[in-house]
Amino acid sequence: TASLVWFRQDLRLSDQAAVAAATHEGPWIGVYVLDDAAAGPWAIGGAQRWWLHHSLTALGEAIREKGGRLVLRRGDVVKELRAVAEAVGAKSIHAIHHYEPWWQAAEEALARHLDLRLYEGSRLAAPDGVLTGSHTRYRVFTPFWRALKEQMPPPTPHPAPSAFTAPHVAIDGDRLSDWDLLPTKPDWAKGFDIWTPGEVGGREALADFLPKIEDYDHDRNMPAIEGTSRLSPHLHFGEVSPAYVWHRAAKHGRAKAEPWLREVAWRDFAANVIDILPDYGRKNGRDAYDHFRWRTGAAPDRDFDAWTKGRTGYPIVDAGMRELWATGIMHNRVRMIAASFLIKHLLIDWRRGERWFWDTLVDADYGNNAVNWQWVAGTGIDSNPFGRIMAPLVQSRKFDAGDYIREWVPELREIEGDAIHNPHEAGCAPNDYPEPLIGHREARERALAAAKS
Ligand code: FAD
Repeated sequence: TASLVWFRQDLRLSDQAAVAAATHEGPWIGVYVLDDAAAGPWAIGGAQRWWLHHSLTALGEAIREKGGRLVLRRGDVVKELRAVAEAVGAKSIHAIHHYEPWWQAAEEALARHLDLRLYEGSRLAAPDGVLTGSHTRYRVFTPFWRALKEQMPPPTPHPAPSAFTAPHVAIDGDRLSDWDLLPTKPDWAKGFDIWTPGEVGGREALADFLPKIEDYDHDRNMPAIEGTSRLSPHLHFGEVSPAYVWHRAAKHGRAKAEPWLREVAWRDFAANVIDILPDYGRKNGRDAYDHFRWRTGAAPDRDFDAWTKGRTGYPIVDAGMRELWATGIMHNRVRMIAASFLIKHLLIDWRRGERWFWDTLVDADYGNNAVNWQWVAGTGIDSNPFGRIMAPLVQSRKFDAGDYIREWVPELREIEGDAIHNPHEAGCAPNDYPEPLIGHREARERALAAAKS
């Protein structure tokens, strides 16, 4: 009898344990279900719909080339999978295990009806296996990383099977184009041509980055340098496996690869956090912050709008927000600055920022996004206190963001030298560049007073 392979954020064929197991067993059909209800507010966002369209196109072609089939369905994920299983006469479903709460719920529901075989493969190690000496879960990154390293390297990645067989049965499936995942008007995705979604694109991104891995520790903080891998959307969609990434990087020597692999391990830590605290995307890690008086009303709404459009009057923040809108990504250092600005300078609830990132990032990831927003906000289980307030203009100078600002804020392109970081202070801000929404010192005092109260 045939089986099913349930694809989610594991859109690859190599080092994909569910594909390997199903192929070993016999004929199978791959299924991807677009379920916009299961995840509630975390239904796939706008930028990621663009990515998903191209990634599924690539996966479908790769499966067909090897003689297999990928069926697309839209609706309640459990219902659709059961219907396809019935049509195929499949009793078992193979899938990679995922840690988002809605996926865990779907896995539980499905296992009540079918023989669901779950495999690891979305993280370097299963988070419930990374434990403290007293067999509890970690709540802080550094000791988590130390314990995870003890378990490394991950199992050697296995290549994709050379051929598949699919059962000859008639099954209804959707046409990808009917899902309307691509933007129509206006076509905001023009700047997305920097990306090649899919397994081949993911491997290429990794190969392009690895020669630079030695410089990562320094370059990673410099927004004007392309010093990071840009692998995050590929990792989110599972187009490359973390084990593959680990082994390829480790070839450059553990010591040289370690600073980068440590960042990759933040994905594992984030999965660990949402596995123990499934509501982390909306619930403060520290309860005391439930009483925090975030600004609400018309004025903060206007500030929020200016932030989303990159019109705050802080060049580094504006460059980041415009890069995000144009390309679906933002440099990590700038994400921290822009997020901190929203939360502490504008005193706007981190959850509003999380929502905006969710819709605009091609790498939007429930665990990574929530863990990082809460880390910046100081509300998280593993974060600095709220009172540590980043100074955007100092950061901009320190990490030499001038050329990055010139690239993304065209009004400031002609400004030379140090004045680029704070053209208002230097007296050279052009008329079409906005005044700062609030001065740094004033913002700092307001934030500290709010935290105190
Ligand atoms: P590299 O520096 O090359 O790192 C390699 C990989 O490690 C990344 O691809 C990513 O998978 C992982 N990684 C690196 N840093 C982190 C981190 N701090 N947390 C978790 N994983 C990390 N990352 C997401 O993948 N999805 C998100 O939704 C997301 N939201 C964020 C929100 C805020 C406010 C902040 C400050 C950071 C957020 N990040 C998120 C983390 C980080 O900014 C991106 O992972 C990184 O910029 C991606 O670029 P890269 O692939 O070149 O990373």
